[in-house]
Amino acid sequence: MAWAKFFRKPGGNLGKSYQPGSMMSLAPTKGLLNEPGQNSCFLNSAVQVLWHLDIFRRSLRQLPGHFCLGDSCIFCALKGLFSQFQQSRERALPSDNLRHALAETFKDEQRFQLGFMDDAAECFENILERIHLHIVPEETDACTSNSCITHQKFAMSLYEQSVCRSCGASSDPLPFTELVHYISTTALCQQTHQRRDESFGELLQAASTIGDLRNCPSNCGQKIRIRQVLMNCPEIVTIGFVWDSEQSDLTEEVIRSLGPHLSLSALFYRVTDEHAKKGELMLVGMICYSSHHYCAFAFHTKSSKWVFFDDATVKEVRRTLAGPLDTEVTYGRLYI
Ligand SMILES: [Zn+2]
Ligand SMILES: [Zn+2]
Ligand SMILES: [Zn+2]
Repeated sequence: MAWAKFFRKPGGNLGKSYQPGSMMSLAPTKGLLNEPGQNSCFLNSAVQVLWHLDIFRRSLRQLPGHFCLGDSCIFCALKGLFSQFQQSRERALPSDNLRHALAETFKDEQRFQLGFMDDAAECFENILERIHLHIVPEETDACTSNSCITHQKFAMSLYEQSVCRSCGASSDPLPFTELVHYISTTALCQQTHQRRDESFGELLQAASTIGDLRNCPSNCGQKIRIRQVLMNCPEIVTIGFVWDSEQSDLTEEVIRSLGPHLSLSALFYRVTDEHAKKGELMLVGMICYSSHHYCAFAFHTKSSKWVFFDDATVKEVRRTLAGPLDTEVTYGRLYI
């Protein structure tokens, strides 16, 4: 089970994608239909979070073209749904076109097939990966295209290295890119008990590296921890919580540990980008799983309110979020 969080960040490259006064923050809120047997709640939740990420919505609208796959084009289906969000007078819309495009695209892998329930975090991640492929049609980890929303806005460019404190030897840095930073909830709760005064980001960092001990690269006998260094400044960061069992008793503890803010320099051992060093991300979206069903929470910029989405049902959140829900989260920049 994966849960991620979405946070946004003040400051940084404000001017680039945000013009005061012009904002869309008109993002209308609508539900998404899920007829009996469709099992589309995982997709509906991922789409609601994407739609409410101002950076994503605006960037997608501004893209001039893409490599189109016709009937099975996830890009077209998502854009079509977004324009209906804006133009339709219905209170809930069908997500069928996107569901079909997703099923068609992943039929060889037997993922996201019609009528079957699937994982919302993986759906979110796969939609982003597909958007990359519709803009830059190559499978590459080191995408530098300025128009690729996926890699420009969401990707974390990292390298891993282990350095031995005892003999000073270090391993070769291993670079990689991730769209969702997965953390074990069991490890997070262990860290929460041991490090009471640390920030949410520091707890996540400790939880992500704790079980991963390696042998010293020069074999001096030490067991050493891996270090993750962030080399870019993602505007949106997604944390996926991995649950060890379907029925976890850690849910409340995990929800209590969630911070409304996340600092990138706390989340990683080191951050090299100057903007990333200063920035604080703010929680802006959550996908939750409970009783074999997904729902989502998203921060609505214009009204500064949290909105709850359960397929066709849309509700403004009037009290502090609390309850027996498992979550997935995203952080993005907060525009002030
Ligand atoms: Zn297309
Ligand atoms: Zn890309
Ligand atoms: Zn050593």
